[in-house]
Amino acid sequence: MSHTCLSFIYLLSAILFIFSIRGLASPETARRGNLLGMIGMAAAIAVTVYSPLVTEYAWILAAFLCGGLIGTWSTLKVKMTSLPQMIAAFNGLGGLSSVFIAAAEILAGTPTYLETSLGMLIGAVAFSGSVIAFAKLQGLMPARALVFPGQQLLNLLFGLSVIITCVWFITTGDRNLFYILAALSILLGFLLILPIGGADMPVVISVLNAYSGWAAVGIGFSLNNVLLIIVGSIVGASGAILSYIMVKAMNRSLLNVMLGGFGADNKNTQNESDGLKRTAKTGNPEDAAFIMENANKVIIVPGYGMAVAQAQHILKEMASDLVTKYGVEVKFAIHPVAGRMPGHMNVLLAEANVPYDDVFELEDINREFATADVAYVIGANDVTNPQAKTNPASPIYGMPILDVEKAKTVFFVKRSLATGYSGVENPLFYADNTIMLYGDAKKVTEEIVRALEK
Ligand code: NDP
Repeated sequence: MSHTCLSFIYLLSAILFIFSIRGLASPETARRGNLLGMIGMAAAIAVTVYSPLVTEYAWILAAFLCGGLIGTWSTLKVKMTSLPQMIAAFNGLGGLSSVFIAAAEILAGTPTYLETSLGMLIGAVAFSGSVIAFAKLQGLMPARALVFPGQQLLNLLFGLSVIITCVWFITTGDRNLFYILAALSILLGFLLILPIGGADMPVVISVLNAYSGWAAVGIGFSLNNVLLIIVGSIVGASGAILSYIMVKAMNRSLLNVMLGGFGADNKNTQNESDGLKRTAKTGNPEDAAFIMENANKVIIVPGYGMAVAQAQHILKEMASDLVTKYGVEVKFAIHPVAGRMPGHMNVLLAEANVPYDDVFELEDINREFATADVAYVIGANDVTNPQAKTNPASPIYGMPILDVEKAKTVFFVKRSLATGYSGVENPLFYADNTIMLYGDAKKVTEEIVRALEK
């Protein structure tokens, strides 16, 4: 295959990837976006494999089968609520492949030391950082920030030694320094993510995603592969933009995230003693149905528990009944980090055919809670926790939250008084206007629908 033909198909693939990202920006066009990305990737793989540079097919076929099997298995088996772990694993594998390619380039004697070492360094941090993120998200280790005395200093020393070794390697090309750099970078990745607490994981995942893209850019320059440079840049830039959106939503600082160790200040998962009385009122679905059918305005706040229970379809039915049978105004309020991945709630509500016009982002709906008769909080917890506003020692302090407590009545549908992902107690459960509806989100909502349809 001629070089011009190869470059032309690479260009086409790059254009397809850009349209793919564009399509993924909205649930309505996401399927098409995915398809365009798949076509672009298939074309890129095909022309690369048929290029004159490739002379040995056995290893490629083995890697293709392994990757294909893992990809197919994870698509079929991994639940949507476990997607963050899967993304962390994929970011880590992307970073690790950059490390291996860089090592192969160095062993082959390619003298592109700057590009190769930068690609390897960022890839190694993405890999080991993702291992910790995966372990925290999968519950293999505590999700809270793990901090110890002198941690900041240790991180700084590691950071400096990585920079010094990198410069030393670039100027000398000594292979042993390359291996030392790889080991130091992997350790640095572990150290950077350990002190980050559970509530900040959404930001960490998108930052690691950006890292894996930038690693690919470095490797693309080292291999002189234009497509890798373009795709790496797209992943790096979109990961960085998503990180920016997430830190803004969480009221954090992007610089702190990029340097790692943010959340270290939040080592106290301290729960505020707020003086609220410690008995939570319990209600039943029939009472909830009665209060909601007599309301003027109900705002539904979905969270991770709705996704676990797969309650979105019955929730849509409940909303439709309230609107059509009882003339109630019903709106859905979405917090930017509700669930376990960006856009998690939007995707589920779209799947249940909830009209987009009824779904509102935090900043557009928050002031409406004061005029709502009911806030129906289904499987959400952290995103409503007022400790984010009142307790500076809390890991979620500073995160904007949905002001559900301003509604006349707040229903919390969950199985217990347990904390959410960040491990912070929610004082709202004990507030005077809160009624707990204990049980699985789907079952409780089904019973409410039954009562509404009587
Ligand atoms: P939370 O994790 O705060 O709370 C979810 C609640 O759902 C739990 O308290 C649990 O209570 C309840 N629950 C679980 N299963 C069920 C069920 N079957 N039926 C009813 N309730 C159930 O979720 P939020 O959505 O409020 O907040 C998201 C949290 O996740 C934030 O801390 C965010 O930072 C973090 N996060 C977000 C990511 C993202 O990208 N969106 C990624 C990673 C983390 P109980 O056990 O009592 O039922």
